[in-house]
Amino acid sequence: MRNDMKALVKAEPREGLWMQRAPVPEIGPEDVLIKVNRTGICGTDVHIWNWDDWAQRTVPVPLITGHEFAGEIVELGRAVEGLELGQRCSGEGHLIGKTSRQSRAGKFHLDPATRGIGVNEQGAFAQYLRLPAFNVVPLPDAIDDEIGAILDPLGNAVHTALSFDLVGEDVLITGAGPIGIMAAAVARHVGARHVVITDVNPERLELAARVVDVVPVNVAEEELAEVIPRLKMKQGFDVGLEMSGNQRALDQMVEALVMGGRIALLGIPPGKSPVDWSRIVFKAITLKGVYGREIFETWYKMIAMLENGLDVRGVITHRFAVDRFAEGFAAMRSGQSGKVVLDWTGA
Ligand code: ZN
Repeated sequence: MRNDMKALVKAEPREGLWMQRAPVPEIGPEDVLIKVNRTGICGTDVHIWNWDDWAQRTVPVPLITGHEFAGEIVELGRAVEGLELGQRCSGEGHLIGKTSRQSRAGKFHLDPATRGIGVNEQGAFAQYLRLPAFNVVPLPDAIDDEIGAILDPLGNAVHTALSFDLVGEDVLITGAGPIGIMAAAVARHVGARHVVITDVNPERLELAARVVDVVPVNVAEEELAEVIPRLKMKQGFDVGLEMSGNQRALDQMVEALVMGGRIALLGIPPGKSPVDWSRIVFKAITLKGVYGREIFETWYKMIAMLENGLDVRGVITHRFAVDRFAEGFAAMRSGQSGKVVLDWTGA
């Protein structure tokens, strides 16, 4: 019998996370219980570790953290159909309501009542996770647990990158964190022409160039205006994917875009930031805010691309057994890492 389990808990309202024993979750009739094999550490988890203003306002204490995971189903609620014990899976960590206009229209990712595992509800940094069967995404054999554990952020990248048609387009990505790098891989995979990624962190740009066929530009050293003629582009970029939340990056993007360019915004600015709206109006630029993943269209596209040659494994730079989680968080907090994956199989 499973009675209790290891879990990484925000146990106290201060910096840090603590490995504790917690009861194995009890599942309802429409839930499954998942034995967690691998988890990814997200920037969100680092905010929760740091216990910054956002975390203090958002996260209840105590809470099992974590939302990026892969594992296998070990228990099925009695009303669950179409899933089997032993099924390998990942899953959508946004728990949605079913009554809003958006949900009833099938636009589940736009449901205003969404709650996140590991943020508002008990999370995936544990040996076992309860999840509504609705949220389960079965994994094909071609996708191992390590990649399965980073499908949530890859989904952010896919959702952002597929916001606009990229076939034959010149694409500018601002922010060479793991999601920016994965978005570059997606842009390449779907047939963009030039893919340029900017940052001011040389390690991240190096990682980007190692993982994807992309042009890295350190905007602390080089102007985008010089890159455009170097790549023999006539006016500028057709599509921008803003992944940094940095105001200067957005300004640079607007300047580097063609008339009628399109921008998908995933990066979150730390607070209010001044925007030169007249430039956006006069350049007739379309802006789209991106939240989460389309449920489940993003998952479908992402898995299909992974089965068909999309390779993002290089973005994982650190792997630790879960008992060494503190080293994983240290790597994340250094700002020098790509994705960090924790292994729960020996927990
Ligand atoms: Zn995440």
